[in-house]
Amino acid sequence: MALIVQKFGGSSVANAERVMNVARIVTDTYAEGNDVVVVVSAQGDTTDDLIEKAKEINPKASKREMDMLLASGEQISIALLAMAIEKLGYHACSLLGWQAGFNTSSVYGAARIKKVDTARIKQEISEKNIVVVAGFQGINKYDDLTTLGRGGSDTSAVAIAAAMHADRCQIYTDVDGVYTADPRKVKNAVKLDEITYDEMLELATLGAQVLNNRSVEMAKKYNVVVEVLSSLERVPGTIVKETVKMEKMLVRGVTKDTNVARISIIGVPNVPGIAYKIFGKLAAKNINVDIILQSVGRNDTKDITFTVSRDHSELALEILNNLDVLEGLKIECDDKNVAKVSVVGAGMETHPGVAATMFQALFEADINIQMISTSEIKISVLIDINDADEAVRVIHNAFIPEE
Ligand code: ADP
Ligand code: ASP
Ligand code: MG
Repeated sequence: MALIVQKFGGSSVANAERVMNVARIVTDTYAEGNDVVVVVSAQGDTTDDLIEKAKEINPKASKREMDMLLASGEQISIALLAMAIEKLGYHACSLLGWQAGFNTSSVYGAARIKKVDTARIKQEISEKNIVVVAGFQGINKYDDLTTLGRGGSDTSAVAIAAAMHADRCQIYTDVDGVYTADPRKVKNAVKLDEITYDEMLELATLGAQVLNNRSVEMAKKYNVVVEVLSSLERVPGTIVKETVKMEKMLVRGVTKDTNVARISIIGVPNVPGIAYKIFGKLAAKNINVDIILQSVGRNDTKDITFTVSRDHSELALEILNNLDVLEGLKIECDDKNVAKVSVVGAGMETHPGVAATMFQALFEADINIQMISTSEIKISVLIDINDADEAVRVIHNAFIPEE
């Protein structure tokens, strides 16, 4: 008998019909003789709607109260799915994050899973229940509810699979696997049979929403093989694992990330230590800096430009405006008009010319590059947000031509 963890995202449980569809997938798996732990997200746009509700009352609500609110979305889905399973004649038990043993760090809104105490899940399994767990949430050392950040249910599923040494971890969603680009935006995107953790981690971090990046990080750490597949069509999906068979494909994916802000500090004195002071302060506040560019300015000064995620731009500006060494300097922030488009592929490590092909495609589409950053397996460019979808398409066509 195998232990299978199955996760269903918001669109897979969006209405009664979809919940019944999920109940059938789950009970079919159980009927084949497997133990099943199911993780679900909030229905459809519930989490977005709850955020809007909060904003109507207090746009600056505390993160603790936001977590208290947002965790309720998943509570609805677990109860409904358990009822659907019961209707099909099986036994189910729904558990909130804390009941399922999710202990997290204290950071509301972006908590990290510290430990999953699986005793209760194991007890329910031994009583022949299908266990339905609320994704995205846990409890911290103050006994307060926490959430893991948007898209966090994927991480909940991988964490259970790791803690329980599950035989399979299946992430069901509204597309039938991981594609070379968002299949809703790029018609000729190709489904990948397999992808490595490292490539998937880059894709997820650079904007491919299909898996949350923390879930991939955790899957790699605990060697959990993850299968991404459709809840609407029963076809094979994409397997995410350590190594995959050698592919001819140089580039495995093209992504777009619009959660980007560009900050420029103009006329920084050309003396040592300033970059250290700027980025040290940002790091101390847990602000992740991505692309950094330093250029020569006028009169022995330099300009420093970098990107952060949009949700961090306000805090970053506040920090910079309070930094003694930057006093009197012009600091600009654009948190509306830029997007980051990236190509990812382990193959580019050993093949020259990937950057040139990417830049040529952008040039031919008359798209201006503002900033560039590279690593062994990815190249990212910062461009105007209005060009982003077109950029993804032309870059995708350059590497993975239309058939
Ligand atoms: P869920 O609600 O199941 O968690 P998400 O909306 O978080 O689903 O993720 C699935 C969506 O990710 C798809 O509908 C698709 O539009 C988008 N997506 C973006 N990039 C990719 C990609 N490279 N491959 C597959 N889907 C992608
Ligand atoms: N419901 C949460 C969200 O919308 C978690 C998830 O879907 O994974 O972000
Ligand atoms: Mg998701």
